[in-house]
Amino acid sequence: MTRALLSVSDKSGLVPFAEKLVALGYELISTGGTHKVLAEAGLDVIAIDDVTNFPEMLDGRVKTLHPRVHAGLLARRDLPEHMAKLSEFDIEPIDMVVVNLYPFKSTIQKDGVTEAEAIENIDIGGPSMLRSAAKNFAAVLPIVDPADYDVVIDKLQAGTVDAAYRKSLAAKVFQHTAAYDALIADYLTTTEFPNNLTLPYEKFDDMRYGENPHQKAAAYKTALPEAYSVLNADILHGKQLSYNNIRDADAAMRIIAEFEETTVVTVKHMNPAGIGQGATLEAAWDQAFAADDVSIFGGIVALNREVDAATAEKMHAIFLEIIIAPSFTPEAFEILSAKKNLRLLTVPFTTTIPQKLEVTSVLGGVVVQERDLYTDAETNFEVVSKAQPTAEQLRAMIFAQKVVKHVKSNAIIVARDGQTLGMGAGQPNRIDSVVYAIQKAATKPGFDEAVLASDAFFPMDDSVQYAADHGIKAIVEPGGSIKDKDSIAKADELGIVLVFSGTRHFKH
Ligand code: 5GP
Repeated sequence: MTRALLSVSDKSGLVPFAEKLVALGYELISTGGTHKVLAEAGLDVIAIDDVTNFPEMLDGRVKTLHPRVHAGLLARRDLPEHMAKLSEFDIEPIDMVVVNLYPFKSTIQKDGVTEAEAIENIDIGGPSMLRSAAKNFAAVLPIVDPADYDVVIDKLQAGTVDAAYRKSLAAKVFQHTAAYDALIADYLTTTEFPNNLTLPYEKFDDMRYGENPHQKAAAYKTALPEAYSVLNADILHGKQLSYNNIRDADAAMRIIAEFEETTVVTVKHMNPAGIGQGATLEAAWDQAFAADDVSIFGGIVALNREVDAATAEKMHAIFLEIIIAPSFTPEAFEILSAKKNLRLLTVPFTTTIPQKLEVTSVLGGVVVQERDLYTDAETNFEVVSKAQPTAEQLRAMIFAQKVVKHVKSNAIIVARDGQTLGMGAGQPNRIDSVVYAIQKAATKPGFDEAVLASDAFFPMDDSVQYAADHGIKAIVEPGGSIKDKDSIAKADELGIVLVFSGTRHFKH
């Protein structure tokens, strides 16, 4: 007689699956709650106690942890000694394990959950059975996911469960139990950088390709979802997000989270293309668009207010990849959804991103660090030049600092209060980024009000010289170079404002 042991927390699909197993000639064995459901459905089920000759005990902590279960699962059917041992102890083989685990994840997500409650939801017997069955996948079918019930039945009815499929079920078990344990480890861990990184991730999507068409790719999200994430956004319209879309949208969301004010952020290749603010969303859009009306084509737009029809009309007029907002009015949605491929995403906006570790790959490993959540404030500024900044320049500096933090180093932003005007990004020396940012900005209306912000200190006074020569009247940079005094002297010589922010914002 072939035997299946069923012990599931998630009982969805259980009864029809069990009925089909019975029809295929399986004998069913089950634990407390699962047994009850199957018996109530009119199925003949053997109670686990009758297999182990041992009662379930310790509030269910020990139900299936017994040699009669594990020997029945682990015995190699191809080894006569193993089968003889089973006979000697009167143990019958078990050919299938259907187990899904205590809901540890949903337990720890509940408001006000106690540690005791969480710990009671650490499944011990379930993973043990799954692992025994999965180790012996040559003979035993380990089934952890109710989504697999139908395929298993199809294969059994067809009369063959091929080796590759058995192995894939085993792999799925070890993925599942590893992720389950990772979540437990994560929950219990208090050290910031533990000996092993055990961050559980779940498949978000397979992608058509990665950064380039010849690179295969997929996206994973954290098992415990972060509300403010492109991976948890609602996709209201448009085709699947690509690898580059996800990263660009993420960049846009990080930038816009800096601003309480009505703001529009456009992003290309993870750098801000243009950022604008205004009394209305449409006005903010106008500012963002005017900030860089070339780069925005094919860009990603994030807006921190509900998108209205007027703003939607203007965005509809150009080619965009993604629009992310807290919501769209019905008219705005109708206007924008006329484009088949344009993705419209909603996510609840926030200006407080939680502190978490961020992982970056290097060959042979990863480096892990905290997020850069430091927001520059006027109280941390130190005016180091003789010339004093105006209130408007100070506001522009704060705005520019919030942006420069998100630009690839060496990063320079030229901006006025509420609008970026020019950006220099990713140049391997700072002066080239300065030159590039000013070239872009100098053609824009409002340049006479502009300040220049740098993500890291000026290693020499050439940036100050160039900026002043080309019309910049105020600069903010972290300070901290051994040549700071040269930059300060140069600012004083040229009569411009120099402010030290005190905080570097490298982003490589
Ligand atoms: P039931 O609802 O059938 O009473 O319990 C099913 C759950 O118990 C499943 O999630 C299964 O993984 C878990 N389970 C089975 N055997 C054991 C055991 O020996 N100890 C513990 N802690 N959990 C078990």
